[in-house]
Amino acid sequence: MSVQQETRSGGEALEVWIDQDLCTGDGICAQYAPEVFELDIDGLAYVKGPDDELLQAKGAVTAVPLPLLADVVDSARECPGDCIHVRRVLDKVEVYGPDAE
Ligand code: SF4
Repeated sequence: MSVQQETRSGGEALEVWIDQDLCTGDGICAQYAPEVFELDIDGLAYVKGPDDELLQAKGAVTAVPLPLLADVVDSARECPGDCIHVRRVLDKVEVYGPDAE
């Protein structure tokens, strides 16, 4: 993990959610971080829960495992729909994604 990533997250727990209304279904996130993202049969990406189950509710939130943070951040950066949101668990401040400062 880069120093910048460490600084932004403050070493705190992060979580991620997808705004499916903006998802283009290209599957980039599922390529970068298949442990966290997967396309459902509706062609949109959803996050996975800790037991690897697909959370099929729109806007569902899941924890970002620290070893996967770089992959999740890359997904958010490359997401054509600008619809992957990574935020701190504690105060819900977005640290990566379209609403990050
Ligand atoms: S990268 Fe973004 S737009 Fe593409 S499938 Fe994943 S969430 Fe949807």
